[in-house]
Amino acid sequence: MSEFLNLGLLLVEAVVYFSLMTVLLHFRHRIGLGVFLTALGVMHFVETYLAAVFYVSLPFGVVSPGSSVFFAGKVMLILMLYIKEDAAAVRQPIYGLFLGNLVTLLVAQIVLLHDPVILSPDQIVDMPFLRNMGLLMLWGTALLYIDSIGIILLYERLGRWAPRWMVLRFAVAGIAILTFDQIGFYALLHYLYDAPGEVFWGGWKAKMLAGFFYALLFGLYQAAFRDHGVVFSRRPIGDVFNDLTFRERYEDLLARTGRDTLTGVYDRGRMEIEVPRLIRDGLREGTQASVAIVDVDHFKSVNDRFGHQSGDAVLKDIAARLAASLRPDDHLFRYGGEEFVILMTRTDHAEALAVVERLRQEMATGVANEAGEPMTISIGLATAPDDGHSFNALLSTADQRLYEAKSAGRNRAVGRSSRDI
Ligand code: GH3
Ligand code: MG
Ligand code: MG
Repeated sequence: MSEFLNLGLLLVEAVVYFSLMTVLLHFRHRIGLGVFLTALGVMHFVETYLAAVFYVSLPFGVVSPGSSVFFAGKVMLILMLYIKEDAAAVRQPIYGLFLGNLVTLLVAQIVLLHDPVILSPDQIVDMPFLRNMGLLMLWGTALLYIDSIGIILLYERLGRWAPRWMVLRFAVAGIAILTFDQIGFYALLHYLYDAPGEVFWGGWKAKMLAGFFYALLFGLYQAAFRDHGVVFSRRPIGDVFNDLTFRERYEDLLARTGRDTLTGVYDRGRMEIEVPRLIRDGLREGTQASVAIVDVDHFKSVNDRFGHQSGDAVLKDIAARLAASLRPDDHLFRYGGEEFVILMTRTDHAEALAVVERLRQEMATGVANEAGEPMTISIGLATAPDDGHSFNALLSTADQRLYEAKSAGRNRAVGRSSRDI
């Protein structure tokens, strides 16, 4: 009967510990992240102490609340901090706990040199225990360091397969790392105290239970704050910023930056970062890549006749049509003014010429200025490796061909002519 009472108490401990720590984490912007971090840190000693000597009997084995409830909870809270904040924030407790524990150990070694006064017969100083505690803390500290980094890397890795299944990733990363941890921690317990095998299995089962239980609590927390997030913060509905991890946030940010504000297509900065790399990758895998420069014909006259705003509207229209007509793997950038650059990877010259020729026709028939007169584009095209290996070389060849297109009367695409070959 007392085994079930012990199990019940462990669950109560898990709920109390995890909920209170979650409250501290949740209000970190109001009370400061230091409150959560300090609370996390002070748990470490009691946790290690309990894991060393305090064991209770459960229906499935002998376990210590120190390791199955508090240590397991701490590792999962570290992951939760990472999810809520980012790598920069989570580095603080990971290094803080590691270095703090080393300081504790060092100080303990000095303290052990004392010859303490016995104040009462009940207060016997257990020196061997203190020494063992030191070793356990050192080992536990190293394990915690590996666990904390491991659980985050695993969570991130799982994100590639199931980016939206946060709670599942939380649970899987948790139980995998806690299994690893149990093996490592038991090895030392066995070495120091000759802990029996049932301590390993009991502890492992309890940690698995804890992993699932904490994932459940995390899931409830996520569900609660997805619904009420707007009440607690002033985030607009649909902004899942809080749910994104550091890398996801970074990628999201990257996708939204580098855009041209008028047309919404990628800007020149983005072009300069991405295109050379894409061309290099293509050449390395032995494929051709084509670069086209698109320039709107007589665009200045739109501005002159109908005003700058009308010119802007035409530019937006042209960019949107170019983007819509391109194939999914083509890349469109606003090069400047009324000029665009298109990168077509894995596309030879003839194929690229067909693509830009189609674009030319679509613009001539689909885009008009305010007076209803058709707007046309001229295009210069160059293809790697025949026209050059670097983006700059391709751009300058494409530019020459654009110039030829303009001289030849505009509204045309010029590629490599038979005389170039
Ligand atoms: P062509 O290329 O056919 O030789 O003639 P063009 O009239 O297009 O000549 P050019 O390339 O010299 O002129 C481009 C004009 O585009 C000049 C500039 O006023 C206008 N322009 C550049 N950026 C913008 C913009 O963001 N909005 C508007 N409305 N006009 C722009
Ligand atoms: Mg121009
Ligand atoms: Mg022009």
